[in-house]
Amino acid sequence: MIAENVRLLRQRIARSCEKSGRSPEDVKLICVTKTASIGDIEEVLKSEIRFLGENRVQDALAKYVAIGNRAEWHLIGHLQTNKAKDAVGMFSLIHSVDSVRLAGAIDKEAAKSGKVQDILIQVNTSGEESKFGMPPGTAENFIKEISIYPNIDIKGFMTIAPEAADPETVRPYFRALRELRDRLNAKRSTLNALQVLSMGMTNDFEIAIEEGSTMVRIGRAIFAKAQCQISKDQF
Ligand SMILES: *Cc1c(COP(=O)(O)O)cnc(C)c1O
Repeated sequence: MIAENVRLLRQRIARSCEKSGRSPEDVKLICVTKTASIGDIEEVLKSEIRFLGENRVQDALAKYVAIGNRAEWHLIGHLQTNKAKDAVGMFSLIHSVDSVRLAGAIDKEAAKSGKVQDILIQVNTSGEESKFGMPPGTAENFIKEISIYPNIDIKGFMTIAPEAADPETVRPYFRALRELRDRLNAKRSTLNALQVLSMGMTNDFEIAIEEGSTMVRIGRAIFAKAQCQISKDQF
């Protein structure tokens, strides 16, 4: 079941890439395991999934201990500063940085463990009040402010689109993130260009890929039987 889901998902990703003239290698599949058991994760690794996404540090711990470095772990949910230490120890990429205070806490913990922590800046392109992330207009200043931290490396941006019955309606929020990245890159050297756009989930990844996503975060399409466990407050 999981293997078949992954196969179909990869087909759909490839088709969206083709449609928009992109290479499937440019879109990383982050398998979101927040509803998955350790057994499910073992299954998914057999399908050559290499990136696992978790929402919360405390939920990821047991899975991380069981699976370890057979996959790269990404933190995709909101991070509290007091969990920065555990997050730095576990995750190769933190998608959800949206405050200077959090960036500072991550930098401090990364320095302690002699690591440079890769991060993404979470942007709220829809302006939905329930979502974390900063308004697009403040991202440039934010990047300036956190560039004083030597132990974090900004790789790009993440956004979560509002839930919508028709995914076409969220296209503008993905497009806004790409335009933000391109606008900021126009002022940076090619060497320092911000590449990553983490956007697109089960409902809307095809639209996100068409708008330039380089990382899709997919849970339900892979672990379909766990569908009913997903609640809104996890976003
Ligand atoms: C749960 C979650 C996902 C995956 O959502 P699905 O609809 O299960 O694909 C992606 N990103 C974030 C931030 C999530 O919380």
